[in-house]
Amino acid sequence: MATLDLKRKLAILSDAAKYDASCASSGGTKRDSLGGKGVGSVDGGMGICHAYAPDGRCISLLKLLLTNFCVYDCAYCVNRVSSNTERARFNVDEVVDLTLGFYKRNYIEGLFLSSGIIRSPDYTMEEMVRVARTLRETHHFRGYIHLKVIPEASPELVNQAALYADRVSINIELPRDDSLARLAPEKDVGGIRRAMGAVRLGVEAGAEKGRRARPAKFAPAGQSTQMIVGADAATDGEILKRSEGLYGAYRLKRVYYSAFSPIPDATARLPLARPPLVREHRLYQADWLMRFYGFERAEIVAENDDLDLEIDPKLAWALRNRGDFPLDLNTACREQMLRVPGLGVRSVDRMIEVRRFKTLVLEDVRRLTRGLEKLKPFIVTGDWTPGASTDSADLRVRMTPPPPRQLDLF
Ligand code: SF4
Repeated sequence: MATLDLKRKLAILSDAAKYDASCASSGGTKRDSLGGKGVGSVDGGMGICHAYAPDGRCISLLKLLLTNFCVYDCAYCVNRVSSNTERARFNVDEVVDLTLGFYKRNYIEGLFLSSGIIRSPDYTMEEMVRVARTLRETHHFRGYIHLKVIPEASPELVNQAALYADRVSINIELPRDDSLARLAPEKDVGGIRRAMGAVRLGVEAGAEKGRRARPAKFAPAGQSTQMIVGADAATDGEILKRSEGLYGAYRLKRVYYSAFSPIPDATARLPLARPPLVREHRLYQADWLMRFYGFERAEIVAENDDLDLEIDPKLAWALRNRGDFPLDLNTACREQMLRVPGLGVRSVDRMIEVRRFKTLVLEDVRRLTRGLEKLKPFIVTGDWTPGASTDSADLRVRMTPPPPRQLDLF
């Protein structure tokens, strides 16, 4: 194999990493270099790969694969052993040097490192752990580290990965177990679940209060996973049911949804086209409703159904449940207010604060929210009631945003 220079390796291995969506760094505790020890801090910086945390913060990560060689043959993956993609491999020192170099120039706030499987899961995981350990122990690196865990690796290595990383992720890959067996025959859903369970226990032990001798920090930003959407026939209801189960069983911080992208020389078992991107977007919105707005998955979409692509899932729910509206914003409880289309967590909390001192009127709502028109059919205030408009037959049509229009050429 021809020797590749570092720049070419970087081009290949950062491009290969783009298929992994699970790299937002929300929930990380900030390390800093106050006291003269360590390199840099997690604050600030501009970057290479931008990811958005749930709080809206934009973070930049050096997002790499250690190698895109892989001994597995997952049908949906461009790095599978049978693919004829160009291959490259970093050694541990190269990844460490690149990370430090970009970090000191303030291009990145951290590292996201994944890898194809070389030789064995243990060998590969050990190499990834060596990168994190060298950064932390030799260079006192205080930036963010997210390591992708290889579930088939030994529990000791998974444990070490979580001790050096802020976040670890273990990809569940596909929403249906039988699809995983069909499209990724070397992967074992039982092993994935066992690894997630072990990480959950470690995170909980690390966070436990009142222990005399606190254990070393174990993945303080928790664990996440990624599911590929549209590579099999799973409905949105099935996908969200799987997410609901993962959040409950393993206390995941995030499930990331990645729309399947067709790859060269793909097997006929895969679809020819990628699903519409708006499907991925609706899944994220529904996921948000489950995590922050008190919705059960079954309220959002039935197991055998897909989400409505035209309108967001909260509006779709409200239109199906018009009997719950209009809601008086001066007397409703927080849980009810969070279900009003167009009202976010921050707006609701501010309204509850304001209404302790005065009766909310439409002008207050306009000031505290992003858009009044979407809200008006669903709310009552001191000076407003929607009358019959909540039940009007054309409400859905009026609330549906126009499809995005391509810009005119002339
Ligand atoms: S194990 Fe990972 S890198 Fe290897 S083929 Fe499967 S998805 Fe791709």
